[in-house]
Amino acid sequence: MKHEVIVCGAGIAGMTTALALTRAGVDVALLAPKKVSAPMQAEQYHPRVYAISEASQALLASLGIWGAMPQERITPVDAMQVHGDRDGQVVLDAWQAAKPHLAWIVESGEIERALFQALTIYGVPWLDDTLATWQPGQVTTTGGVTVQAQLFIGADGARSPLRSAAAMAHQKKDYGDQGLVTHLTCEKPHLNTAYQWFRNHHVLAFLPMPDTSEGHQVSLVWSVDDATAARYLEMDEATLARALPEALNEVAQGCLGALKVRARLHGFPLTLEKAQMVATGVALVGDAAHRVHPLAGQGLNLGLGDVKVLTQVLNEKEAFRSYGDLRVLERYARTRAADVLAMRVATDGLYQLFARDLPALPFLRNAGMKLVQQLPWVKRQLIAGAAGS
Ligand SMILES: Cc1cc2nc3c(=O)[nH]c(=O)nc-3n(C[C@H](O)[C@H](O)[C@H](O)COP(=O)(O)OP(=O)(O)OC[C@H]3O[C@@H](n4cnc5c(N)ncnc54)[C@H](O)[C@@H]3O)c2cc1C
Repeated sequence: MKHEVIVCGAGIAGMTTALALTRAGVDVALLAPKKVSAPMQAEQYHPRVYAISEASQALLASLGIWGAMPQERITPVDAMQVHGDRDGQVVLDAWQAAKPHLAWIVESGEIERALFQALTIYGVPWLDDTLATWQPGQVTTTGGVTVQAQLFIGADGARSPLRSAAAMAHQKKDYGDQGLVTHLTCEKPHLNTAYQWFRNHHVLAFLPMPDTSEGHQVSLVWSVDDATAARYLEMDEATLARALPEALNEVAQGCLGALKVRARLHGFPLTLEKAQMVATGVALVGDAAHRVHPLAGQGLNLGLGDVKVLTQVLNEKEAFRSYGDLRVLERYARTRAADVLAMRVATDGLYQLFARDLPALPFLRNAGMKLVQQLPWVKRQLIAGAAGS
Protein backbone atom coordinates (compact mmCIF):
# COMPACT_ATOMS: atom_id res chain seq x y z
CA MET A 1 0.00 0.00 0.00
CA LYS A 2 1.46 3.36 -1.02
CA HIS A 3 0.05 6.89 -0.73
CA GLU A 4 1.45 10.44 -0.53
CA VAL A 5 0.17 10.87 3.04
CA ILE A 6 -1.12 8.43 5.66
CA VAL A 7 -3.14 9.70 8.62
CA CYS A 8 -2.79 7.37 11.64
CA GLY A 9 -5.80 7.69 13.94
CA ALA A 10 -9.44 8.42 13.20
CA GLY A 11 -10.68 10.58 16.05
CA ILE A 12 -12.05 13.99 15.08
CA ALA A 13 -8.54 15.39 14.42
CA GLY A 14 -7.55 12.44 12.18
CA MET A 15 -10.75 12.28 10.15
CA THR A 16 -10.77 16.07 9.66
CA THR A 17 -7.14 15.96 8.47
CA ALA A 18 -7.87 13.17 5.97
CA LEU A 19 -10.94 15.01 4.66
CA ALA A 20 -9.22 18.41 4.37
CA LEU A 21 -6.22 16.90 2.54
CA THR A 22 -8.43 14.86 0.20
CA ARG A 23 -10.36 17.99 -0.71
CA ALA A 24 -7.03 19.73 -1.36
CA GLY A 25 -6.17 17.03 -3.91
CA VAL A 26 -3.62 15.10 -1.82
CA ASP A 27 -3.50 11.29 -2.20
CA VAL A 28 -4.27 10.39 1.44
CA ALA A 29 -5.39 7.27 3.30
CA LEU A 30 -6.40 6.56 6.90
CA LEU A 31 -4.88 3.89 9.11
CA ALA A 32 -7.00 3.33 12.25
CA PRO A 33 -9.61 1.03 13.76
CA LYS A 34 -12.81 1.71 11.80
CA LYS A 35 -15.56 2.58 14.30
CA VAL A 36 -18.76 4.24 13.17
CA SER A 37 -20.58 6.27 15.76
CA ALA A 38 -24.18 4.97 15.87
CA PRO A 39 -27.02 7.52 15.58
CA MET A 40 -28.60 8.24 18.97
CA GLN A 41 -32.33 7.93 19.60
CA ALA A 42 -34.30 11.12 20.14
CA GLU A 43 -33.60 12.60 23.59
CA GLN A 44 -30.49 10.43 24.03
CA TYR A 45 -27.11 12.19 23.76
CA HIS A 46 -23.54 10.98 23.26
CA PRO A 47 -21.67 11.18 26.58
CA ARG A 48 -18.87 13.44 25.25
CA VAL A 49 -19.74 16.94 24.15
CA TYR A 50 -17.38 19.69 23.05
CA ALA A 51 -17.53 23.47 23.20
CA ILE A 52 -16.66 24.24 19.57
CA SER A 53 -15.05 27.63 18.97
CA GLU A 54 -15.86 30.00 16.12
CA ALA A 55 -12.63 29.02 14.30
CA SER A 56 -13.41 25.27 14.58
CA GLN A 57 -16.99 25.87 13.47
CA ALA A 58 -15.71 27.73 10.40
CA LEU A 59 -13.30 24.88 9.55
CA LEU A 60 -16.02 22.22 9.91
CA ALA A 61 -18.42 24.38 7.87
CA SER A 62 -15.84 24.83 5.07
CA LEU A 63 -15.55 21.03 4.86
CA GLY A 64 -19.34 20.56 4.69
CA ILE A 65 -19.40 18.86 8.12
CA TRP A 66 -21.25 21.53 10.09
CA GLY A 67 -24.24 21.51 7.75
CA ALA A 68 -24.33 17.70 7.73
CA MET A 69 -24.96 17.46 11.48
CA PRO A 70 -28.52 17.54 12.90
CA GLN A 71 -28.85 21.23 13.74
CA GLU A 72 -31.43 20.61 16.49
CA ARG A 73 -28.74 18.77 18.51
CA ILE A 74 -26.32 21.74 18.39
CA THR A 75 -26.69 24.31 21.19
CA PRO A 76 -25.28 27.81 20.75
CA VAL A 77 -23.57 29.39 23.77
CA ASP A 78 -24.50 33.06 23.99
CA ALA A 79 -22.96 33.84 27.38
CA MET A 80 -20.46 32.49 29.90
CA GLN A 81 -20.65 32.97 33.67
CA VAL A 82 -17.40 32.20 35.48
CA HIS A 83 -17.47 32.20 39.29
CA GLY A 84 -14.42 32.38 41.56
CA ASP A 85 -14.14 30.68 44.93
CA ARG A 86 -15.43 33.78 46.77
CA ASP A 87 -17.44 36.60 45.25
CA GLY A 88 -15.43 37.01 42.04
CA GLN A 89 -17.46 36.64 38.85
CA VAL A 90 -16.89 37.32 35.15
CA VAL A 91 -19.76 37.33 32.66
CA LEU A 92 -18.94 37.23 28.96
CA ASP A 93 -21.74 37.94 26.47
CA ALA A 94 -21.60 37.37 22.72
CA TRP A 95 -23.16 40.79 22.08
CA GLN A 96 -20.27 42.50 23.91
CA ALA A 97 -17.96 41.28 21.17
CA ALA A 98 -20.57 41.82 18.44
CA LYS A 99 -20.75 38.09 17.76
CA PRO A 100 -23.92 36.03 17.28
CA HIS A 101 -22.60 33.26 19.60
CA LEU A 102 -19.54 32.58 21.78
CA ALA A 103 -19.35 28.85 20.92
CA TRP A 104 -21.52 25.81 20.20
CA ILE A 105 -21.99 22.65 22.28
CA VAL A 106 -21.83 19.63 19.96
CA GLU A 107 -21.74 15.89 20.67
CA SER A 108 -18.46 14.17 19.67
CA GLY A 109 -20.45 11.29 18.13
CA GLU A 110 -22.33 13.64 15.77
CA ILE A 111 -19.11 15.27 14.49
CA GLU A 112 -17.55 11.81 14.04
CA ARG A 113 -20.58 10.47 12.16
CA ALA A 114 -20.65 13.42 9.75
CA LEU A 115 -16.89 13.08 9.13
CA PHE A 116 -17.22 9.32 8.55
CA GLN A 117 -20.00 9.90 5.98
CA ALA A 118 -17.97 12.57 4.16
CA LEU A 119 -14.89 10.31 4.00
CA THR A 120 -17.06 7.53 2.58
CA ILE A 121 -18.54 9.86 -0.04
CA TYR A 122 -15.05 11.03 -1.05
CA GLY A 123 -13.90 7.39 -1.16
CA VAL A 124 -10.90 7.99 1.10
CA PRO A 125 -9.06 4.65 1.50
CA TRP A 126 -9.26 3.41 5.11
CA LEU A 127 -7.08 0.58 6.41
CA ASP A 128 -8.96 -0.88 9.39
CA ASP A 129 -5.89 -1.79 11.43
CA THR A 130 -3.46 -0.26 13.95
CA LEU A 131 0.08 1.03 13.55
CA ALA A 132 2.68 -1.32 15.05
CA THR A 133 6.11 -0.11 13.86
CA TRP A 134 7.51 2.90 12.00
CA GLN A 135 10.67 3.50 10.02
CA PRO A 136 11.35 6.46 7.69
CA GLY A 137 8.84 6.31 4.81
CA GLN A 138 7.13 3.14 6.02
CA VAL A 139 4.93 1.69 8.76
CA THR A 140 3.85 -1.85 9.52
CA THR A 141 0.44 -2.57 10.96
CA THR A 142 -0.48 -5.08 13.66
CA GLY A 143 -2.17 -7.04 10.89
CA GLY A 144 1.21 -7.33 9.08
CA VAL A 145 0.51 -4.87 6.21
CA THR A 146 3.35 -2.57 5.09
CA VAL A 147 2.28 0.97 4.19
CA GLN A 148 4.56 3.50 2.47
CA ALA A 149 4.12 7.28 2.33
CA GLN A 150 6.09 10.53 2.14
CA LEU A 151 4.39 11.74 5.31
CA PHE A 152 2.74 10.00 8.28
CA ILE A 153 0.42 12.24 10.30
CA GLY A 154 -0.02 11.11 13.91
CA ALA A 155 -3.60 11.83 14.96
CA ASP A 156 -3.53 8.78 17.18
CA GLY A 157 -4.40 10.43 20.49
CA ALA A 158 -2.59 11.22 23.72
CA ARG A 159 -0.78 7.86 23.85
CA SER A 160 0.27 8.23 20.15
CA PRO A 161 1.97 4.98 19.05
CA LEU A 162 3.41 6.84 16.02
CA ARG A 163 5.03 9.45 18.29
CA SER A 164 6.65 6.66 20.36
CA ALA A 165 7.72 4.64 17.31
CA ALA A 166 9.34 7.74 15.75
CA ALA A 167 11.03 8.53 19.13
CA MET A 168 9.63 12.07 19.20
CA ALA A 169 10.17 14.03 22.44
CA HIS A 170 7.16 14.17 24.75
CA GLN A 171 6.49 15.67 28.20
CA LYS A 172 3.60 14.80 30.45
CA LYS A 173 2.34 16.17 33.76
CA ASP A 174 -0.43 14.28 35.52
CA TYR A 175 -2.89 16.61 37.29
CA GLY A 176 -4.01 13.75 39.55
CA ASP A 177 -7.54 14.76 38.54
CA GLN A 178 -10.31 13.34 36.40
CA GLY A 179 -12.99 15.04 34.34
CA LEU A 180 -16.38 13.58 35.32
CA VAL A 181 -18.96 13.92 32.57
CA THR A 182 -22.68 13.16 32.28
CA HIS A 183 -25.89 14.93 31.28
CA LEU A 184 -28.30 16.46 33.80
CA THR A 185 -31.90 17.57 33.73
CA CYS A 186 -32.22 20.96 35.41
CA GLU A 187 -35.26 22.72 36.81
CA LYS A 188 -34.47 26.20 35.46
CA PRO A 189 -33.65 27.10 31.82
CA HIS A 190 -29.92 27.46 31.07
CA LEU A 191 -30.56 30.49 28.80
CA ASN A 192 -27.84 29.29 26.40
CA THR A 193 -25.27 30.14 29.05
CA ALA A 194 -22.19 28.08 30.00
CA TYR A 195 -21.59 28.20 33.77
CA GLN A 196 -18.29 27.54 35.52
CA TRP A 197 -17.23 27.51 39.18
CA PHE A 198 -13.65 27.33 40.48
CA ARG A 199 -13.37 25.74 43.95
CA ASN A 200 -9.78 25.09 45.08
CA HIS A 201 -8.55 22.87 42.27
CA HIS A 202 -11.99 21.49 41.42
CA VAL A 203 -13.66 23.08 38.39
CA LEU A 204 -17.37 22.59 37.72
CA ALA A 205 -18.96 23.41 34.38
CA PHE A 206 -22.54 23.18 33.11
CA LEU A 207 -22.80 23.37 29.32
CA PRO A 208 -26.17 24.14 27.68
CA MET A 209 -27.85 21.27 25.82
CA PRO A 210 -31.20 20.83 24.05
CA ASP A 211 -34.32 20.59 26.24
CA THR A 212 -35.92 17.15 26.51
CA SER A 213 -39.39 15.98 27.57
CA GLU A 214 -37.91 15.61 31.09
CA GLY A 215 -37.08 19.35 31.21
CA HIS A 216 -34.10 21.57 30.55
CA GLN A 217 -30.72 19.92 30.05
CA VAL A 218 -27.05 20.69 30.70
CA SER A 219 -23.92 18.63 30.21
CA LEU A 220 -21.64 18.28 33.24
CA VAL A 221 -17.85 18.54 33.15
CA TRP A 222 -16.53 18.37 36.71
CA SER A 223 -12.77 18.22 37.21
CA VAL A 224 -12.05 16.67 40.61
CA ASP A 225 -9.15 14.86 42.28
CA ASP A 226 -8.77 11.15 41.54
CA ALA A 227 -10.07 10.04 44.97
CA THR A 228 -13.28 12.10 44.64
CA ALA A 229 -13.74 10.90 41.05
CA ALA A 230 -13.33 7.26 42.12
CA ARG A 231 -15.91 7.74 44.88
CA TYR A 232 -18.58 8.94 42.40
CA LEU A 233 -17.64 6.47 39.66
CA GLU A 234 -18.00 3.54 42.10
CA MET A 235 -21.45 4.57 43.36
CA ASP A 236 -24.48 2.50 42.37
CA GLU A 237 -27.14 4.29 40.32
CA ALA A 238 -29.47 5.10 43.23
CA THR A 239 -26.69 6.51 45.44
CA LEU A 240 -25.27 8.57 42.56
CA ALA A 241 -28.75 9.95 41.75
CA ARG A 242 -28.88 11.34 45.30
CA ALA A 243 -25.25 12.26 45.99
CA LEU A 244 -24.19 13.90 42.71
CA PRO A 245 -26.94 16.57 42.41
CA GLU A 246 -26.45 17.40 46.10
CA ALA A 247 -22.68 17.88 45.69
CA LEU A 248 -23.09 19.87 42.46
CA ASN A 249 -25.68 22.19 43.92
CA GLU A 250 -23.47 22.85 46.93
CA VAL A 251 -21.00 24.41 44.48
CA ALA A 252 -23.54 25.89 42.02
CA GLN A 253 -25.75 27.14 44.87
CA GLY A 254 -28.90 25.98 43.13
CA CYS A 255 -28.24 28.26 40.15
CA LEU A 256 -30.25 25.99 37.81
CA GLY A 257 -32.62 24.64 40.45
CA ALA A 258 -33.05 20.93 41.16
CA LEU A 259 -30.73 18.64 39.16
CA LYS A 260 -31.32 15.05 38.01
CA VAL A 261 -28.71 12.68 36.55
CA ARG A 262 -29.94 11.47 33.12
CA ALA A 263 -26.99 9.46 31.76
CA ARG A 264 -24.07 7.28 32.87
CA LEU A 265 -21.17 9.02 34.60
CA HIS A 266 -17.79 8.76 32.82
CA GLY A 267 -14.33 9.81 34.06
CA PHE A 268 -11.36 10.97 31.96
CA PRO A 269 -7.86 11.38 33.47
CA LEU A 270 -6.52 14.92 33.05
CA THR A 271 -2.97 15.66 31.93
CA LEU A 272 -0.86 18.48 30.54
CA GLU A 273 1.22 17.16 27.63
CA LYS A 274 3.33 18.48 24.81
CA ALA A 275 5.34 16.76 22.12
CA GLN A 276 7.84 17.56 19.41
CA MET A 277 5.32 18.27 16.65
CA VAL A 278 7.39 17.25 13.59
CA ALA A 279 10.28 15.05 12.46
CA THR A 280 11.34 14.11 8.94
CA GLY A 281 8.34 12.31 7.42
CA VAL A 282 6.14 12.70 10.55
CA ALA A 283 3.77 15.43 11.82
CA LEU A 284 1.54 15.23 14.90
CA VAL A 285 -1.91 16.81 15.28
CA GLY A 286 -4.50 16.91 18.08
CA ASP A 287 -3.94 15.14 21.40
CA ALA A 288 -0.91 13.33 19.95
CA ALA A 289 0.81 16.75 19.84
CA HIS A 290 -0.58 18.40 22.98
CA ARG A 291 -3.11 18.00 25.74
CA VAL A 292 -4.47 20.71 28.03
CA HIS A 293 -6.78 20.88 31.07
CA PRO A 294 -10.42 20.97 29.88
CA LEU A 295 -11.29 24.01 32.05
CA ALA A 296 -11.29 26.23 28.95
CA GLY A 297 -12.90 23.57 26.69
CA GLN A 298 -10.19 24.11 24.10
CA GLY A 299 -8.37 20.76 23.57
CA LEU A 300 -10.14 19.73 20.40
CA ASN A 301 -10.23 23.32 19.15
CA LEU A 302 -6.44 23.36 19.43
CA GLY A 303 -6.31 20.09 17.45
CA LEU A 304 -8.56 21.49 14.71
CA GLY A 305 -6.26 24.54 14.58
CA ASP A 306 -3.40 22.09 13.84
CA VAL A 307 -5.41 20.51 11.04
CA LYS A 308 -6.13 23.86 9.41
CA VAL A 309 -2.50 25.02 9.48
CA LEU A 310 -1.00 21.66 8.45
CA THR A 311 -3.35 21.41 5.45
CA GLN A 312 -2.47 24.97 4.43
CA VAL A 313 1.30 24.37 4.77
CA LEU A 314 1.19 21.10 2.79
CA ASN A 315 -0.98 22.76 0.15
CA GLU A 316 1.46 25.64 -0.29
CA LYS A 317 4.69 23.58 -0.32
CA GLU A 318 7.10 24.00 -3.24
CA ALA A 319 6.49 21.39 -5.97
CA PHE A 320 10.06 20.03 -5.69
CA ARG A 321 9.72 19.22 -1.97
CA SER A 322 8.08 16.06 -0.66
CA TYR A 323 5.25 16.17 1.91
CA GLY A 324 7.65 14.70 4.49
CA ASP A 325 10.38 17.33 3.95
CA LEU A 326 11.37 18.66 7.38
CA ARG A 327 11.63 22.23 6.02
CA VAL A 328 7.96 22.08 5.04
CA LEU A 329 6.87 20.47 8.32
CA GLU A 330 8.81 22.99 10.41
CA ARG A 331 6.65 25.76 8.91
CA TYR A 332 3.68 23.94 10.45
CA ALA A 333 5.38 23.53 13.85
CA ARG A 334 6.52 27.17 13.91
CA THR A 335 3.05 28.48 13.02
CA ARG A 336 1.37 26.40 15.74
CA ALA A 337 3.93 27.05 18.50
CA ALA A 338 2.45 30.35 19.77
CA ASP A 339 -1.18 29.11 19.94
CA VAL A 340 -0.22 25.86 21.67
CA LEU A 341 2.00 27.68 24.19
CA ALA A 342 -0.67 30.31 24.89
CA MET A 343 -3.29 27.65 25.59
CA ARG A 344 -0.92 25.65 27.86
CA VAL A 345 -0.01 28.76 29.84
CA ALA A 346 -3.62 30.00 30.10
CA THR A 347 -5.19 26.69 31.18
CA ASP A 348 -2.38 25.56 33.47
CA GLY A 349 -1.97 29.07 34.92
CA LEU A 350 -5.67 29.32 35.75
CA TYR A 351 -5.62 25.81 37.24
CA GLN A 352 -2.59 26.67 39.44
CA LEU A 353 -4.07 30.02 40.46
CA PHE A 354 -7.05 28.25 42.03
CA ALA A 355 -5.17 25.12 43.20
CA ARG A 356 -2.61 27.02 45.30
CA ASP A 357 -3.42 27.53 48.94
CA LEU A 358 -1.45 30.69 49.79
CA PRO A 359 -3.16 33.13 52.21
CA ALA A 360 -3.49 36.16 49.86
CA LEU A 361 -4.52 34.22 46.76
CA PRO A 362 -8.28 33.85 47.32
CA PHE A 363 -8.58 37.63 47.73
CA LEU A 364 -6.36 38.37 44.73
CA ARG A 365 -8.01 35.95 42.28
CA ASN A 366 -11.54 37.09 43.16
CA ALA A 367 -10.54 40.76 43.10
CA GLY A 368 -8.94 40.11 39.68
CA MET A 369 -12.18 38.59 38.39
CA LYS A 370 -14.19 41.56 39.68
CA LEU A 371 -11.80 43.92 37.94
CA VAL A 372 -12.06 42.02 34.63
CA GLN A 373 -15.86 42.13 34.98
CA GLN A 374 -15.66 45.95 34.91
CA LEU A 375 -13.36 46.17 31.86
CA PRO A 376 -15.29 45.64 28.60
CA TRP A 377 -12.09 45.83 26.50
CA VAL A 378 -10.46 42.99 28.47
CA LYS A 379 -13.64 40.94 28.13
CA ARG A 380 -13.65 41.48 24.36
CA GLN A 381 -10.03 40.21 24.26
CA LEU A 382 -11.02 37.10 26.26
CA ILE A 383 -13.87 36.40 23.84
CA ALA A 384 -11.60 36.90 20.82
CA GLY A 385 -9.01 34.53 22.35
CA ALA A 386 -11.61 31.81 22.94
CA ALA A 387 -12.96 32.18 19.38
CA GLY A 388 -9.58 31.05 17.97
CA SER A 389 -8.14 32.10 14.63
C1 LIG B 1 -13.43 15.90 30.31
C2 LIG B 1 -12.96 16.50 29.02
C3 LIG B 1 -13.70 17.51 28.41
C4 LIG B 1 -13.26 18.12 27.21
N1 LIG B 1 -13.99 19.12 26.66
C5 LIG B 1 -13.55 19.74 25.53
C6 LIG B 1 -14.29 20.84 24.94
O1 LIG B 1 -15.32 21.28 25.44
N2 LIG B 1 -13.79 21.42 23.80
C7 LIG B 1 -12.63 20.98 23.22
O2 LIG B 1 -12.21 21.56 22.20
N3 LIG B 1 -11.94 19.92 23.75
C8 LIG B 1 -12.36 19.30 24.87
N4 LIG B 1 -11.64 18.26 25.40
C9 LIG B 1 -10.46 17.75 24.69
C10 LIG B 1 -10.82 16.72 23.59
O3 LIG B 1 -11.53 15.65 24.20
C11 LIG B 1 -9.59 16.15 22.89
O4 LIG B 1 -8.68 17.19 22.61
C12 LIG B 1 -9.97 15.45 21.57
O5 LIG B 1 -10.91 14.44 21.81
C13 LIG B 1 -8.73 14.82 20.91
O6 LIG B 1 -9.08 14.29 19.66
P1 LIG B 1 -7.99 13.52 18.79
O7 LIG B 1 -8.68 13.20 17.50
O8 LIG B 1 -6.70 14.26 18.76
O9 LIG B 1 -7.67 12.18 19.62
P2 LIG B 1 -8.60 10.92 19.97
O10 LIG B 1 -10.03 11.29 20.00
O11 LIG B 1 -7.99 10.30 21.19
O12 LIG B 1 -8.42 9.92 18.72
C14 LIG B 1 -7.29 9.09 18.57
C15 LIG B 1 -7.52 8.08 17.47
O13 LIG B 1 -6.32 7.31 17.25
C16 LIG B 1 -6.65 5.95 17.08
N5 LIG B 1 -5.49 5.11 17.43
C17 LIG B 1 -4.96 4.86 18.65
N6 LIG B 1 -3.90 4.02 18.54
C18 LIG B 1 -3.74 3.77 17.21
C19 LIG B 1 -2.81 2.99 16.45
N7 LIG B 1 -1.85 2.26 17.02
N8 LIG B 1 -2.94 2.99 15.10
C20 LIG B 1 -3.92 3.71 14.49
N9 LIG B 1 -4.81 4.45 15.16
C21 LIG B 1 -4.73 4.48 16.50
C22 LIG B 1 -7.85 5.74 18.00
O14 LIG B 1 -8.58 4.59 17.62
C23 LIG B 1 -8.61 7.04 17.75
O15 LIG B 1 -9.42 6.91 16.60
C24 LIG B 1 -12.06 17.66 26.59
C25 LIG B 1 -11.33 16.62 27.19
C26 LIG B 1 -11.75 16.05 28.40
C27 LIG B 1 -10.92 14.98 29.05
